[in-house]
Amino acid sequence: MIHPYSPGSIFMLPHGTRIVQRLQDFLRQEYKRYGYDEVMTPLIYKKDLWETSGHWQNYMEDMFMVKSGKESTGCCDHGDNHEEEGIYGLKPMNCPGHCLIFDSTPKSYKDLPIRLADFSPLHRNEASGALSGLTRVRRFHQDDAHIFCTEQQIVSEISSCLSFVDRVYKAFEFPHFDFTLSTRPSNNYIGSVAEWDHAEDALKKALDSTGRPWTVKEGDGAFYGPKIDIMVKDSCGKSHQTATIQLDFQLPQRFGLKYVDEHDQAQTPVIIHRAILGSIERMFAILIEHTNGKWPFWLSPRQAVILPVATPFADYATKVAKQLSGTNDIGCESFYVDADTSSRDRLNKMIRQAQKDRYNFIGVVGQKEMDSGTVNIRTRSGEMLGSMTIDDLRSLFSKLNANLQ
Ligand code: ZN
Repeated sequence: MIHPYSPGSIFMLPHGTRIVQRLQDFLRQEYKRYGYDEVMTPLIYKKDLWETSGHWQNYMEDMFMVKSGKESTGCCDHGDNHEEEGIYGLKPMNCPGHCLIFDSTPKSYKDLPIRLADFSPLHRNEASGALSGLTRVRRFHQDDAHIFCTEQQIVSEISSCLSFVDRVYKAFEFPHFDFTLSTRPSNNYIGSVAEWDHAEDALKKALDSTGRPWTVKEGDGAFYGPKIDIMVKDSCGKSHQTATIQLDFQLPQRFGLKYVDEHDQAQTPVIIHRAILGSIERMFAILIEHTNGKWPFWLSPRQAVILPVATPFADYATKVAKQLSGTNDIGCESFYVDADTSSRDRLNKMIRQAQKDRYNFIGVVGQKEMDSGTVNIRTRSGEMLGSMTIDDLRSLFSKLNANLQ
C-alpha cells in the first residue's frame, strides 16, 4: 500500500509481511550453513561517519538528512559547534556501521573471514520520477552482508557467495539467471591496475568454478572495485538486477581497518559487499510475477482454509484451523490456516472462492470428519488427497516447509 503521507515508502500489509518474514527466516537458516553472524545496527549516524565513508562527498544527494528537534543553544564551554553535531544522515547502506563493528576490537588473521549480515531498513532519496511500485522505493530492506577477509580468501569467499545465490534461486525455481562481471572503469577508479587485475582474476576464477556461463561488462565496475551482478528475468522476460557481490579495497582503508597477519604485521582486510535477494521489496515484486500470486506452500500467506459443509460443523472447522495455526500450543510449528465459518454460500461456491483466494490446501469437514477427527483435503489445483488426521496434515505441511516446496 502507498499513502501520500509517505511518498516513495510503502506500507507492507499483514499478508505481505508474512512473505517478507518467511524470506528473511529462510535467509537466516542459510546464514547458519554459510557462517554468517546477524547484527543490528543504528539507522542514523553523525555526519562525521559519512565523511569518513565518503558518502557525504559522493552520495549526499541520495541521502536523507535528519536534524535534531532541539534548538542549538549556541553557547558552549568547549567551543564545539553544536549545530554541526545536530546533523545526522539516515543510512542508505550498512557498510559504514559494519566497519565500526569490525574496528571495535583488535583482529588477527585467525578471526577472518568475518561475515556480518543485516536486515536493517535503508533509505535512499530516489528521484520521484524513478520510483516504481515495489521495484524502486525510498525505504527498503536488503539481505545485506559484509565479509571482511584476507586477499587469499577472496576466491573461496566469492565462490561461497555464488553457491549461496544458486541455492536460494533454485528454491525460487527461477528458470534462469545470468552472472555478469563488471570490470575496472576506464578512469576515476582507485587503487593500482595490478590490484584490479588481481581482483578481477579472483572473481573470474570464482565464476568459472560455478560451471555456469557468465558475461563481462567492461568498465562497469564501481570506482572502488570490480563486482558480479546477478540478473533475473521475470515472467514477462524483463531482466532485473537482484543479487550483487562487490569487492572493495577502498572502504577498509578509509576506516583504517587492520588485522595482524601470521608474521605479526598489520594488514588491511578486503571487504566483500553482498546481497543475495538484493532489495527484498524488489524480489517480492519479481516473485509475485513469477508465481502469478500462486505462492508455493513454504512462502504462502494463505496455506490452508477449513470449510464446514454446514453451520453445525463450524466449531470443528475453527478447532482444526486453530490447531494447525499453533494458536493453542506454544512451541509447535505453526501454519497460516483459516476457517471460513461466516460464509452462507453452498460448499461448491466456497471451494471456488478458496481457490480464487489461492489457498494452497482446502479442507472440508462434516459429520464423518468430526467423528473421526479428520479433514477431507484437496489441493489448490483440485487434486483430491482424501481424509487426513490433523497430525498427518501437520507432518505434510512441515515437510513442505522444510523442503521449500
Ligand atoms: Zn555495503
